[in-house]
Amino acid sequence: MSNNFSTIVIGLGAVGSSTLYQLSKIGNTKVLGIEQFTSPHSLGSSHGETRITRLAIGEGEVYSPLAIRSHQIWREIEHKTQLNLFNQIGGLFISSKEGSTIHVENFFATTLDAAKKFNISHEILEQAEIQKRYPIFNLDVDEYAYFEPDAGYLNPELCIKAQLDLAHANGAKIHMNEKLLSYEQFGNQIKVVTNKNEYFTDKLILSAGSWMPELIPNEYSQYLQVHRQVLYWFNIKPEYYPLFTPENMPIFIWGIKNSPQGIYGFPAIAGANGGVKIATESLVRVNSPDEINREVSNEEIATMYNTISNKIRYLDGVCIKTSVCMYTVTPDHGFIINEHPEIRGVHIISSCSGHGFKHSPALGESIAQLVTYGKSNIDLAPFSSSRFNLLNN
Ligand SMILES: Cc1cc2nc3c(=O)[nH]c(=O)nc-3n(C[C@H](O)[C@H](O)[C@H](O)COP(=O)(O)OP(=O)(O)OC[C@H]3O[C@@H](n4cnc5c(N)ncnc54)[C@H](O)[C@@H]3O)c2cc1C
Repeated sequence: MSNNFSTIVIGLGAVGSSTLYQLSKIGNTKVLGIEQFTSPHSLGSSHGETRITRLAIGEGEVYSPLAIRSHQIWREIEHKTQLNLFNQIGGLFISSKEGSTIHVENFFATTLDAAKKFNISHEILEQAEIQKRYPIFNLDVDEYAYFEPDAGYLNPELCIKAQLDLAHANGAKIHMNEKLLSYEQFGNQIKVVTNKNEYFTDKLILSAGSWMPELIPNEYSQYLQVHRQVLYWFNIKPEYYPLFTPENMPIFIWGIKNSPQGIYGFPAIAGANGGVKIATESLVRVNSPDEINREVSNEEIATMYNTISNKIRYLDGVCIKTSVCMYTVTPDHGFIINEHPEIRGVHIISSCSGHGFKHSPALGESIAQLVTYGKSNIDLAPFSSSRFNLLNN
């Protein structure tokens, strides 16, 4: 039957596109991907030209195997497509010696522990050395950095498109501009109802990003909060542009002393007039992704410039452009990967909390292995929401 599939993937952002590609790659051709918009798009969590990738993961050592495998997969996809997806320019993670918070309190200590455990190349740089290598950064004397040469940035829109194109070439079906409305157990299968059609499938992957709370039981959605985020591109004083090129500037994450939010940024990838992308993280919760304010006020821009102007040198205060994006955040800034409590074969994959893009190809591969063979090479058990029950007891 044409409406009968072995696996349907809902949401073709970072996670959905990689899952669909990986399913098709292991020979699973009766797969369908359904996306409410036309992916890649700028309404979810996977847009804005760049995403940081790093191997030693400060949010938890359990993430490093995903990041390490993901770097291999990006290279495989680049080889297949001849596209430039991953720029390995190095990453500088700056902290106060008293410690600073990025997503989790012990981010820097955990980063270093993960680097040692997984044998990830790194250097610890003192303030004077950082100033010498990267004069754009204006550090306090008590700040230092972890430098990871294998870190860098990804082009998220291109990564998604490349994986969807490969999935399509492998025989996967892709339906854009179609929205999942409901799903239910139907005999041994799952019945999937969209605004355009009805389907029957053995396995259903829900990778709907910030729309996930609408699609899953309260048992899981209670742990997900959608937060509005803003990306800013600031103008560089022309004579200093060479210091901001990818050859001379790494990606950076900067934990600010006594602040729960840091800043992060990327080199100027669009030439001297394209600006430098810098952002912080906001904890402002929104009720629904469809209600999010996509306008950025002058006041927000002024506040952001005020935060960074004494940290990043050689900017002139002009904001060239902005973009609004969404985090879907859990209480411990981790992922939620679970099978549905009542409907067998439905898998809930929420991998954001502000750091999910880098892990998405290995996550897609692991989910494809899980639904096809019953287990994955990388253990996904640490991402079960049961860890929150343990915290509550
Ligand atoms: C500003 C910002 C900066 C970030 N920086 C980094 C970074 O530097 N490094 C990093 O690793 N990660 C970063 N992240 C996190 C990372 O981008 C996310 O973890 C990742 O993109 C989430 O992918 P996703 O597939 O879960 O969600 P999305 O990519 O948003 O995909 C979900 C898709 O589901 C679709 N959908 C929803 N509901 C339905 C439905 N009912 N029917 C059909 N389709 C549906 C949506 O339209 C969407 O396309 C950042 C996130 C943001 C917002």
